[in-house]
Amino acid sequence: MTQKSISSHSDLVRVQARPPTEDNLFNALATASFELNYSDVPKPYHAESSIRNQISTSVYKPIKSSGPIDPESKPINTSVPIDSESPSWRNPEKPLLSLPLPSEVKPALITYKRNQTRSTLPSVSKILKATMPVDRAVALAQWEERMIAQMGQAGFEAYQKAMLDRGHRLHSYIEHFLLEGTTSLSSEDDVSLKHTQSIAPLLSQFSHPHSLESQVVHPTLKYHGYLDCVAVYKGKILALIDWKTSEKKKASLASTFDNPLQIVAYIGALNHDPRYPFQIDHGLIVIVHNDGLEAKVLGISKQKLDIYWKAWLERLKLYEAMTKYGK
Ligand code: MN
Repeated sequence: MTQKSISSHSDLVRVQARPPTEDNLFNALATASFELNYSDVPKPYHAESSIRNQISTSVYKPIKSSGPIDPESKPINTSVPIDSESPSWRNPEKPLLSLPLPSEVKPALITYKRNQTRSTLPSVSKILKATMPVDRAVALAQWEERMIAQMGQAGFEAYQKAMLDRGHRLHSYIEHFLLEGTTSLSSEDDVSLKHTQSIAPLLSQFSHPHSLESQVVHPTLKYHGYLDCVAVYKGKILALIDWKTSEKKKASLASTFDNPLQIVAYIGALNHDPRYPFQIDHGLIVIVHNDGLEAKVLGISKQKLDIYWKAWLERLKLYEAMTKYGK
């Protein structure tokens, strides 16, 4: 990383250039030893009583209309309005899941994998990276310099690769549990073992996977991304879930940087992506600790989704102004 002053977003994009792995940034932020000044939403997370709890013969209520199967085939809307006319992350045309689900019910798994999907649209990760607040980008660059000073360039690259490999390993481990009900770890890496210890006490709280590592496309706001997981949490909540590995404890959403914006962006996209026949109104970030300490579940309820969605639209609008994409 070259030492230089950072004065604009276009500088940032250059300074932040990294190997082309989308999760690099989030992983780096997850382990970085600096704090950010995001204002968290004070209301504590709780399961909402409005969630339907009747057992239904059909898992979903009927959908009013089904859109085209290709979410990118709709006309391009080139501007992101942010006012009373702003689009919502919600989609009243899609049903919510009727919960609880009988344990024998296996929802159809919807997956659009990275190697099977292409998009000309910008990704959520790309947009968040390009529009990162300057003070945070500076802090990240400084952290990276400290790491390189400690372990050398090659050492730092190896550290980053190990972190990414462990992330992928953990994701596969959890997915295997959700699909098969059993666990197996195909590595003797010490930190990966700690990750499995960290998540073990919570694994049984997740069931009924609906989607795993799958693409979501927002057909009118024109962005895409790859979610980690859609599953039922504690039998009561259908949630979009992101698994994060972390060196540090993350006690609040505020300490997870842009992760809540990433989650709400995926939820908004999924809710409007015609390939998914349902909508979601809860997000979860699960912090899995490198030292084996029990994982922490950070919930994002509807009220918080409203607030983070506005912040996401601001970032999207900024990105549009920076790149003039769609013009
Ligand atoms: Mn993840």
